[in-house]
Amino acid sequence: MIASVLPTYSRAPLAFVKGEGSWLIEADGRRFLDLGAGIAVNALGHAHPALVAALTEQAGQLWHTSNLYQIPRQQELADKLVAATFADTVFFTNSGTESCELAVKMARKHFFDAGQPDRVEIIAFEGSFHGRSSAGIAAAGSEKMTKGFGPLLPGFRHVPFGDHDALHAAINAKTAAILIEPIQGEGGIRPVPDHCLQGLRALCDEKGILLIHDEVQCGMGRTGRLFAHEWAGAAPDIMMVAKGIGGGFPLGAVLATEHAASGMTAGTHGSTYGGNPLGCAVGCAVMDVMTAPEFLPEVSRKSGLLRQKLEALVAAHPDVFESVRGAGLMLGLQCRLPNTDVVAANYEALLCTVPAGDNVVRLLPPLTISDEDIALAVIRLDAAASSLASRSEPVRA
Ligand SMILES: *Cc1c(COP(=O)(O)O)cnc(C)c1O
Repeated sequence: MIASVLPTYSRAPLAFVKGEGSWLIEADGRRFLDLGAGIAVNALGHAHPALVAALTEQAGQLWHTSNLYQIPRQQELADKLVAATFADTVFFTNSGTESCELAVKMARKHFFDAGQPDRVEIIAFEGSFHGRSSAGIAAAGSEKMTKGFGPLLPGFRHVPFGDHDALHAAINAKTAAILIEPIQGEGGIRPVPDHCLQGLRALCDEKGILLIHDEVQCGMGRTGRLFAHEWAGAAPDIMMVAKGIGGGFPLGAVLATEHAASGMTAGTHGSTYGGNPLGCAVGCAVMDVMTAPEFLPEVSRKSGLLRQKLEALVAAHPDVFESVRGAGLMLGLQCRLPNTDVVAANYEALLCTVPAGDNVVRLLPPLTISDEDIALAVIRLDAAASSLASRSEPVRA
């Protein structure tokens, strides 16, 4: 008999009932150090006082009105995002995949209105992840996500990650946009080098096409800048945001320049929940914490600390780990043993980590993690690696 919850997830046998900062707690009181943060969602950790206050205060006033009316909280959050980024305008969604839907629609509408209705194709990269909607799976293109769900939304081309020649060859008179994660998350924490992000910007300008960044996972402070592309100094025309922006409340956004968004006039797009007062109250609180002057430099400092300890961990366990990669507090341990074994051993050591593609274990701690908890996390990673190494040692006669 099918489970009452549609069985699309393979879940760990853990159930948490409470969260405190970087900690998750089970009903029996067992405390896990959380280096997954709900897959980069709980950017400010669990039960951050500023978010609890913003949510409860708004909950007592007004939850939802629909976008039939003015929503002052939504206006406030849009103004904060515009002030802090390349963008001129913002549309609010409830998830990353909805942000993907709008990014694709916006790019196509831009060229339709510009008298180039044949420019509909989006070029995306192998190993990418853009969500589970029809546009999201077509954009990523991997068989794992698309098999059995055809016919797929047409108009996507895929090129190998890092293959400049293939990218140039894929651009033609039908190309509307290039869609890229500045750091691939699900694909295994694969950063796009700064000079490539700069090259993509120049290429899009030269060809007159739009550049879409998917910063759903790498954005919202994760790399020590509000958005990852800022390190390269090369902004997109359209950017997908979600995950960290709501700190655990389902909230997403599409940010765009006035030029890219030119086709999105009244009636062309909408969302029932998107940008409702409750979500935007939380989003405003997240933005206020992250744009305080000391916040992002602290993320960078802690990132340096964690990274240094991880390099030592890899050196100490060459049979378990291959290398460390990533940026900021979006780090990946490439493994020599199956990454799922490493994640399971981490659970035994009371540590939550997340598997990713390319046999990587992802470390996405709350951006607010303390130095003590960073040290403890690496002690637990080390204990888990030692237990794996001793298990896999050949039996001697
Ligand atoms: C998680 C993720 C998405 C999809 O977001 P959902 O909120 O799960 O729809 C899209 N792109 C990237 C890069 C992601 O990490």
